[in-house]
Amino acid sequence: MKQTLFLGVLAVSLTIGIADAAIADADTTAKAKAFVSAHEAKFKPLDVTAGKAWWDANTTGKDEDFKRKEEAQNKIDAALSDTAVFKGLSALKADREKIDDPLLKRGIDVLYLLYMEKQVDPELLKKITSKANAVEQAFNVYRASIDGKEMADSQVREILKNGTESELKRKVWEASKGVGKSVEADLKELVKLRNEAAVQLKFKNFHAMMLFLNEQNADDLLKLFDDLDELTKGPFTAAKAEIDGKLAKVYDVKTGDLMPWHYHDPFFQESPAVFDANLDAPFQKADILALCSKFYSGVGLPIDDVIARSDLLEKKGKSPHAFCTDIDREGDVRVLANIVPNEYWMGTMLHELGHAVYSSKNIPQKVHYVLRSESHILTTEGVAMQFERFSKSRLWLEKMGVKIDDPAAFDTAAKKVQRNQLLIFSRWCQVMLRFEKEMYEKPDQDLNKLWWDLVEKYQQVKRPVGRNAPDYAAKIHICSAPVYYHNYMMGQLFASQVHHTIARELYDNADPGTVIYIGDKKVGEFMKKKVFEPGRTLDWQGLTKFATGEELNPKAFAKDFQSK
Ligand SMILES: [Zn+2]
Repeated sequence: MKQTLFLGVLAVSLTIGIADAAIADADTTAKAKAFVSAHEAKFKPLDVTAGKAWWDANTTGKDEDFKRKEEAQNKIDAALSDTAVFKGLSALKADREKIDDPLLKRGIDVLYLLYMEKQVDPELLKKITSKANAVEQAFNVYRASIDGKEMADSQVREILKNGTESELKRKVWEASKGVGKSVEADLKELVKLRNEAAVQLKFKNFHAMMLFLNEQNADDLLKLFDDLDELTKGPFTAAKAEIDGKLAKVYDVKTGDLMPWHYHDPFFQESPAVFDANLDAPFQKADILALCSKFYSGVGLPIDDVIARSDLLEKKGKSPHAFCTDIDREGDVRVLANIVPNEYWMGTMLHELGHAVYSSKNIPQKVHYVLRSESHILTTEGVAMQFERFSKSRLWLEKMGVKIDDPAAFDTAAKKVQRNQLLIFSRWCQVMLRFEKEMYEKPDQDLNKLWWDLVEKYQQVKRPVGRNAPDYAAKIHICSAPVYYHNYMMGQLFASQVHHTIARELYDNADPGTVIYIGDKKVGEFMKKKVFEPGRTLDWQGLTKFATGEELNPKAFAKDFQSK
């Protein structure tokens, strides 16, 4: 892995040399130290301003806040694209073996990737930021509309999930895809601009560049996803046949006539609720925030301060999604959400607060500013998903004091849904990874067709007859979080692997399905020591090994979806 990355750097012919067996020298070490300190002094205020503007823009949807966010981002980009600064950094990178401090070395590696991304023409960078902002704003203000009536995102979900009339579901599904049409042109331009930037940096396209900047590479990634495809294909096909049988009965159609709007989720990325018990029922009277507060403080990772700073309920103009952000790397951590009392939002809040505990709240100040963040997006998504999974655990709910009317039925349904969820999600991630890779490799191809070809192959969902619309563009991540989604899948592997390690080491080899953490401060201690505190001093593969004793692999994940 390391080797490949190093050769990757050479391949893009940047100023870098292989310094084998070089001897550390005080001068290089001092220069590296000065560089890292100067970076912190310059960027800390810029990062905080940008973080606050980003927060305001997403909570209000106002033009002036989006403008402020764009300006802040432009300032950061300008500082990162400074060619003279990058020249100095490249020299340090080339001499990294002479740096007499492994953490400082790591700091230089991390900064090198950060600055490298911005070594493109500043005019081009500005165009990219402005296009990306236009797309993001269009997403935030778009509401599906049927017969002239606007619907909140939660209403769309409600009808797709609980509506019984196929015709209404079709209308709602189509309306929810309307956002794709509204951003299609901007997204296509954005893809070309992103590719242009990547080519300026000597990468073959934006996809390849993003993987490199995130310390990953396409060969390893495709191998992992091919392995997963093999591992999940059979179990997924069987699970889907069972789901199709149930859905066909509910909607009174033949299984062969099931359409995308019958699968409860707009993208079939979640498991449809077809296994008798209503998983939402226990949450209708539950206080989701109180449950989160009690759970996280119980395991020794309190989050009440985060909740107090957060913006958690639906309102007009606000982003309809959910995210967590670390504003200053000094503990100002906030969550944006749109909570309604159902299972989806219970899971989502456990997820976002999982990000919140894996932040500067629990990464010590002694870790340098540059390294005081999660190891990688896949490790923070992994932690978030590790906690999110409890919203489908009867054991967890009962011990948390949530009343379940028919526990046996809930248990059977939830276990099945959980298992199906892992399978369904992994097939969906196959579509996302492969679509993005091909979109950036050949942006002029028929993307509407490519999308549905992949959906049919990996998710086994039929394209509606004659459908020719940019449905890929309705997925916000394709626009706003490019080449990111595969990390969710790798995060699932990380979640399983860490959870199994906890079951093995802290619970005496207990069945991972019975390990629910509640009230157990040992879990918080483990997460802090083994996962959070290293921050970015370790790369994702290094951290996985440090926390679990093994490199990232699908073994624990496979056990999770094979378990009954
Ligand atoms: Zn997340």
